[in-house]
Amino acid sequence: MIAPRGDLALMAGYHSPRVEVAVRLNVNESPLPPPPAWVEALQAELGRLAFHRYPDRRAWALRSALGRAHGVGPEQVFAANGSNEVIQALLLAFGGPGRTAAVFEPTYALHSHIARITGTGVATGERGHDFSIDLDEVARVASESAPELTFLCSPNNPSGGADPPQVVEATLDLAPGLVVVDEAYGQFCGWSALPLAVGAGNGRPGSDKLVVLRTFSKTWSMAAARLGYLVGPPGVVAVLEQVALPYHLDAVKQAAGCLALDYQAEMEARVALLVEERGRLFAALGHMEVDAWRSDANFILFRPRRRDGSEVWRALLERSVLVRDCSSWPRLAGCLRVTVGTPAENAAFLAALSEALG
Ligand SMILES: *Cc1c(COP(=O)(O)O)cnc(C)c1O
Repeated sequence: MIAPRGDLALMAGYHSPRVEVAVRLNVNESPLPPPPAWVEALQAELGRLAFHRYPDRRAWALRSALGRAHGVGPEQVFAANGSNEVIQALLLAFGGPGRTAAVFEPTYALHSHIARITGTGVATGERGHDFSIDLDEVARVASESAPELTFLCSPNNPSGGADPPQVVEATLDLAPGLVVVDEAYGQFCGWSALPLAVGAGNGRPGSDKLVVLRTFSKTWSMAAARLGYLVGPPGVVAVLEQVALPYHLDAVKQAAGCLALDYQAEMEARVALLVEERGRLFAALGHMEVDAWRSDANFILFRPRRRDGSEVWRALLERSVLVRDCSSWPRLAGCLRVTVGTPAENAAFLAALSEALG
């Protein structure tokens, strides 16, 4: 067999184990399904789709609806099969051999992983002990590596905290290339970089070097639909359309995304419930033998104080509770990450954790 690219051998895949458990809190999905009325509307729409025809190649209706939701036109929205594919398109268009993407670790592993798959060099900045980003570190990475792309993740997966506005604004000043703010968990947080991308109204344009990523996988309860998008400058969006495959968004997905936006209030109600649950979970962890990091997302990173992280992970699994084992990841020794679930799931997790900690 012909050998694959030599550099692929050095890359581990990105997977989370999928085992049958009663309480699944490992990949930050929504514990609640989308509204039944959305399912019915989508079923009706399926009957009207012309399945023998290619879908709208530019996904204009979907991009227009997303644009309206953010106060921009469709030419400022690029949609793809999950925000991971948005990241891939960005790296195909602006990265590649001889170019560099900067990340601040620990952060979402797929930013550097997809960079490497596209042949893009990775410049690594370090977050502080509390996982916040220091502006001196942003300046160091920007001047030493001159990255074409600088990734921020706010709120940051896996640590949970959002980057404050000053960090995003200063990064826009310091970074020589495009700044990508991944807001997969944006609605769980009080602050968003979207206004900086969109412009502050009264004719002030948005930044010409900022793109903000959003996904339907978490807050919209649609992980199975594989839909994500970015809001950014029209010139960036036009280049991304060039690297995307023809008809990359199927007609079912386009319809599903358009219809979902009719249920914004229901989405916000789910987010409010999970934010409340996050507060209860964080408070409960505060009474246990763990260190937990304050979160602006739908998950909490924590570290057992006296027990080995992966031992606790296994003890939870024995009690049919699955969380993410980050204990062997760089800079996260001993850490586990739990997704905020329904009140019943969170109660089951806390009971199992209390037993697991002994
Ligand atoms: C979950 C997650 C995504 C979502 O990816 P999709 O491809 O849209 O499912 C993107 N970025 C971060 C930081 C995430 O945690």
